[in-house]
Amino acid sequence: MPPTVTDRAKFSRPLTLVLLLGVLAGAPNPVGAQQDATIVDVGDSRLHVVIEDSEFRLAQRDIIDWIRRSADIVANYYARFPTKRAYIGVRAAAGAGVKNGRALRHGPTVNITMGVESTSRDLDVDWILIHELIHLAFPRVPDRHHWIEEGLAVYVESIARANAGTLTPEQVWRGFVQGMPHGLPRAGDRGLDFTPTWGRTYWGGALFCLLADIDIRKASGGKMTLRDALRGIVNAGFDMTDQVDSLPTMLKIADAATKTPALTILYERMKDSPTAIDLSSLWHQLGIDTQQQEIKFNDRAPLAALRAAITAGDRARAAERHYKEFTY
Ligand SMILES: [Zn+2]
Repeated sequence: MPPTVTDRAKFSRPLTLVLLLGVLAGAPNPVGAQQDATIVDVGDSRLHVVIEDSEFRLAQRDIIDWIRRSADIVANYYARFPTKRAYIGVRAAAGAGVKNGRALRHGPTVNITMGVESTSRDLDVDWILIHELIHLAFPRVPDRHHWIEEGLAVYVESIARANAGTLTPEQVWRGFVQGMPHGLPRAGDRGLDFTPTWGRTYWGGALFCLLADIDIRKASGGKMTLRDALRGIVNAGFDMTDQVDSLPTMLKIADAATKTPALTILYERMKDSPTAIDLSSLWHQLGIDTQQQEIKFNDRAPLAALRAAITAGDRARAAERHYKEFTY
């Protein structure tokens, strides 16, 4: 499930122990300790995993398996793991569950803090590691565009998990229905590039990604998706270890991959103006009944097929046709 306000507050808390020291010193060991890294190969990419020597309730192989499964979910979305190599550090904390995570350019490195009491179930429901791994797939952009980095991580995390079958469509849309309102402009908003609040950064960015996914699918008659656009960036050789000056340049590369101008047009619309979005109308068009406690789908809605295709993954593209015109 996508992050709640509470999750985010925990999640953005600075790490008290910087796990990166080993990598900065040139050693392939993100925990900075003496253990050897465990090698996890994901396609042609190699992950160096170091788990802090601590009293974890789970066996080391279970934690490694979870990292492998998470990396596979990300690789499935991007058609390959986004970087040739990465360093993954797992640090112990009290309690259960994954506590926080951070992706860093150097390495690149993903540091995760995990409770020593964590169970397999805690890891099965974790979204943090996948969120951080998704950060590896997009270059660093100037601070005013930080919303695209976080928005992609929030949006793609849910979609990639649904595509892989580890999150149900109901879970994805419930998370979006609850979370996306945080991304709407409030009084005084000056657009995504000029309103660096928590809501606009994480959920405003995620809303941009959802609207972009819909626009690309509409413009291409369902043949192309945001996934193809983002694969275009990875295939052009960009990842988190790159620092780029221009977001519009990256969006053009992504648009070229789908042969649509969707991302560029949406960015022009949302970058420096509040851009009102009628979410109730959007959910209605997608066939998402938000009146009940549980999410219910209406398969007769104009964009019902598109909504189903978003969570279904590559194989379901054939189902995504003939949806009607709509505006949000
Ligand atoms: Zn993030």
